[in-house]
Parts: sequence; structure tokens; C-alpha cells
Amino acid sequence: MNVRSLFGCIGLGVITAISAWLGFTIGKLIGIPPWIGGIIAVAIIVAVAVSRLIAKPFESYDKGVDYAIQGDLLKAKEQFQESLRLYPGHDLSKDAIRLIDDVLHEKIKGKTLAHLFTGMKLASQGYDSKAITEIKLAQSLDPNYSGVYSTLGATYRALGRPDEAIAECKMAVALDPDSSMSHYELGAAYKVGGQIDAAIEEYRKALKISPEHGSAHKDLAFCYRDIGDRRHMIEHRDKALALGVNVDLHELNKPQEGQWLRYSKSITDDFPFKDGPRLAWSINCPVDRTRLVHYSRADLVLEGFTINCTACGSRIDVVVQGDSVTVSTYYQRKVLD
Ligand SMILES: [Zn+2]
Repeated sequence: MNVRSLFGCIGLGVITAISAWLGFTIGKLIGIPPWIGGIIAVAIIVAVAVSRLIAKPFESYDKGVDYAIQGDLLKAKEQFQESLRLYPGHDLSKDAIRLIDDVLHEKIKGKTLAHLFTGMKLASQGYDSKAITEIKLAQSLDPNYSGVYSTLGATYRALGRPDEAIAECKMAVALDPDSSMSHYELGAAYKVGGQIDAAIEEYRKALKISPEHGSAHKDLAFCYRDIGDRRHMIEHRDKALALGVNVDLHELNKPQEGQWLRYSKSITDDFPFKDGPRLAWSINCPVDRTRLVHYSRADLVLEGFTINCTACGSRIDVVVQGDSVTVSTYYQRKVLD
């Protein structure tokens, strides 16, 4: 912990204590129990502090974009580095620094960069056609620079136009096959276009060039989830998390339609329970928790059975082996929250 964040923590503690006291006093005055007033005040302070912490890296990124548009490359670079310091997994900042370095090393014109960043800013504000015009201006200034094609591809992708995104990113890869940014963007374009196998291939190429590309690890985790490869999903999820990338774990762990999920249950005194001459196997549908019961003859050795959930239609296979039971569910539809 550095000195700045230490002071930040002490300051936050003092502000929280004061607001708790204020909330307590005001709660007493307006007639709600004082401790509720205190809790509300502390909750507001914590929420504000957390939102500031989350907003800050993107604030630096936005400032960097503004400096880059004005042509102040060194100040822009400082802001992108600050954004990376606060949020090491922010690959957009890494790409921005690479673009600035390309201007500083005279690989591209300063004007190209200004048009590129103006285009990215306009795209983030929702001015789609103006954004595309700006990036195409950058393309006309440096037509052999792969970064202008991958940026246009990323913009088309964000607009939900995968075919154009794929075409631009393929140009970027052709111009610079050693750029992880180009392969990453091509992978992302394929992913939006629903070509998961092609996306996985490009993400893997990006990672071969930059093994620390956190966004590529994150996107790969989702691709592997989509094709039901849990081992690789976990591997890339963990790498993305270790690199400081935000991964929506709730979204990632949601079962997918058409996916098999297995769990084991052991046979105990109450499972399956005896119901006269029959055994009753009570299984909850893992999709919607509907209770399903299958009956079998108690005097026969049962190897397994299949039931369909009466509520969602999922197919549930139950395999009995000695004292353990494996339940496999084939999801018929997505789980709704
Ligand atoms: Zn069900």
C-alpha cells in the first residue's frame, strides 16, 4: 500500500465516522430509529467511494484520449499509464500507449492518431457514422498501418456489424501478422458473428504474441463456455482474473442451453426412499428445481433411468453405480434469473 492510498483509507474512515454520526443525529430528529439513519449514511458513503474507485481508471483513459486528440502525446501517455496503474487489466490503455509509441517512433503521422482517437471517442458517445468517417480519414492518411483497420473493425463490432468488422480486422492481420491487437480484434469480430471456433483460433494467436493480454483470456473463457469446454474455460478465467481483468462470473457460470451438467449423489437411508414394494427416486431438476420422482421395483437392481422435467423439458439421465448416483442434465433452455 502506498502513502497516497494509506491517506485515502484514513480519510475514508474519518468521513464514514462523521457521516455515521450525522445519520444517527438526523435519524433521531426526523423520527426514524437513529441506528437506521447511521446505516443509511454509511451505505451512501461506501457506495460513493466504491463508484469513485471503479470510475477512476476510465476517467484517466478518457483524459488520455482528449490529450491525444489535442496532440499532447506525452500527457496522453501519462494518463493511459495512470489508468493502467489503477486497473492493470485495462487492455484499451495498453493499445493506446502502443499507438502513441508508433507516432513517437514516426511509424505513423500524428494526425492519423488524432483522427483515430476522435473516432473512438465519437463511437463511445454513440455518434456512429461520424466515428466511422473519422477512422476512415485516419485510414486514408496511413493506409498501410494495421491499427487503423483494427480500430475500424472494433467500431463495427461494437455497432453489431460483424461482417464489416471481420473484413477490416482481416486487413489489419494481413498488414501486421505480429500484432496481438489485430488478432484480438479479429477474434472479437468472429465471436460477435457467432463463429466461435474461428474466434478461439485468433484469440490464441493474440496470446501467443502477448501472453498477458487479459481481455483475450477473458473472451476465451466465454468462448470455451459456449462450446462446453469447462477445463479451458476455468484456465482462461483464472488467467484473466490474475491479470486484473473484470470477469462477470455470474454471467460466465450461467448454464447454457444444450449443455450437460453432472453431479453426484450418494445413496443414503432416505434416498431413494422405500414406498411399499417400490423405491422412489426424488431428483430436483437442476434448471428450475422442479421436484421429479421416478419409481422402480425395490427387488430389482436398477442401473439407471431417464426422466424429462415436467416444467422445462430438460432431459435428466440418472446412472446408478453401487452407492453413488450420477445425475446428468441436458439443458433444454436457458436458466432465467
Ligand atoms: Zn426443469
